[in-house]
Amino acid sequence: MGKNMYCKSQKANSKDWNANYGGIFPKKKEAVRPPRIKENKIKCLSCNTILTSYFRHDFKWCKCESIFVDGGMDYLRRGGEGIDNYEELSTYVEETEED
Ligand SMILES: [Zn+2]
Repeated sequence: MGKNMYCKSQKANSKDWNANYGGIFPKKKEAVRPPRIKENKIKCLSCNTILTSYFRHDFKWCKCESIFVDGGMDYLRRGGEGIDNYEELSTYVEETEED
């Protein structure tokens, strides 16, 4: 941010940024965006393990391996035999909080 925003070195940095984070914040043509995920978190009710997926391919099983969490802040993915036996603890960024 600020006066250095348009200098050449900053442009190069932003290019790297896109390469690294393009998968997390893909540029889409659709105008409608899903609510932004703040924390992708569940609790397995069989073993009481709290699982948090921090990035897109951060795939984690709970201790008893009945449920997994995946998707990070990109999407919410859950699966396994315990799919009906977990508590949803994820939080979202309010649409109006930031632009
Ligand atoms: Zn479990």
